[in-house]
Amino acid sequence: MHAVDMPFSYVIGGFGPWAAALMMLAAVQSEYLHRGALSRCALGFALLGAGLVANGWSDPAARWPILTLALAAVVGTAVIYRALRQLVGARPTRMPRLALEVALPCLALLPAWTAGPRSFALTFHVLCLAVSLGIAWTVRRALVAPRNTAEAAVAVILLLYAGTWVYALYAMLRHDGPEHRHLLYVEPPFLAGYAVLYALLPLLVGVLVFNLANARLHHRLRRHANTDDLTGLMTRRALLEQAGPWQDDVLERGRQPVVLLLDVDHFKPINDTHGHERGDEVLRAVSDRLAGTLRAGTPLARWGGEEFLVLMDVASLDQAAAAAERMRAAVAERPFASGESRLKVTTSIGVSAWPAGVDLAQAVANADAALYSAKREGRDQARMAGPA
Ligand code: GH3
Ligand code: MG
Ligand code: MG
Repeated sequence: MHAVDMPFSYVIGGFGPWAAALMMLAAVQSEYLHRGALSRCALGFALLGAGLVANGWSDPAARWPILTLALAAVVGTAVIYRALRQLVGARPTRMPRLALEVALPCLALLPAWTAGPRSFALTFHVLCLAVSLGIAWTVRRALVAPRNTAEAAVAVILLLYAGTWVYALYAMLRHDGPEHRHLLYVEPPFLAGYAVLYALLPLLVGVLVFNLANARLHHRLRRHANTDDLTGLMTRRALLEQAGPWQDDVLERGRQPVVLLLDVDHFKPINDTHGHERGDEVLRAVSDRLAGTLRAGTPLARWGGEEFLVLMDVASLDQAAAAAERMRAAVAERPFASGESRLKVTTSIGVSAWPAGVDLAQAVANADAALYSAKREGRDQARMAGPA
């Protein structure tokens, strides 16, 4: 096996961050949502890679590449840290604080550089430890209460990264030989482990950053698909997804599942007379009033245009009838105000039991038939479906 000397391993190591930066730049072309965070990550990784390659490739007698490497490592990490904050949903930091986060390490490194190798190595290690602990602290929520596996993985890796600096600082304090070009005073065989770890870490973090961005994208898409834009209620799709398990749970608790279908009466004339915008306002207000009559967590969906569907668990059908009456009254009791105008709005409601072994579609069809008779008999009323 050929031995690879440390400076050369730094050149190789530099390609890790550069590969990560390239991956991010390619992703930014089609990822609009996290463009800022991914670009910042790419910049941080590019800086890190530049520091490593410059250090490995320059004249071995020169001392300046050590400073370049330290500056690139500290500034690059601070930039990546900002991007990670955003991706794990931490509060964004303001510009002055960011400038301080970057300027302070640079200001600490420069005088240490002139003071000599020992104080420089000490300052560098303390800074790296502080930055990595700061990062681990910032993403602590992702560690103790991760919203997805991607968040947990990033948090664990960052904690591990901080751990490597604890040991590196310890090794540096014990070291009393010459200054090392690679700035690591960990003894072999750990040194080789550090070199490999630091070369691979950027790629690993890069992949995890993609995972994080994807998990956030997925979460956002699901929220969009499950939330009605106009009313903020759940969509028909979301309710259909929940309905089966919800029914099982209600039956298990020995309660009775029922379905309530509501339709706003003569809604088309509201649109025709007062405009579509006013119609939208009424739909929002109606949905608020309906939700106000329900226990928190009761599934209430916008079923379509001006129709709403509620899943309710009751002890008896009388309770369901009473709940329907409360909903009807909540809408009809007070007119809907908008500026000077007041609009009286009513609803018709069909209620049906949803017993075990019956499809939701069948229960909704029964509720729809009851709703139809409520309409026929003069609207502004609730009707119970006949026995299934
Ligand atoms: P009925 O009492 O028989 O239910 O009469 P209706 O006028 O309420 O019933 P119809 O089905 O004829 O009209 C429903 C109207 O709801 C037609 C449609 O333009 C309107 N609508 C559906 N979705 C929306 C929406 O998102 N916003 C607004 N403003 N109107 C909507
Ligand atoms: Mg309708
Ligand atoms: Mg209607």
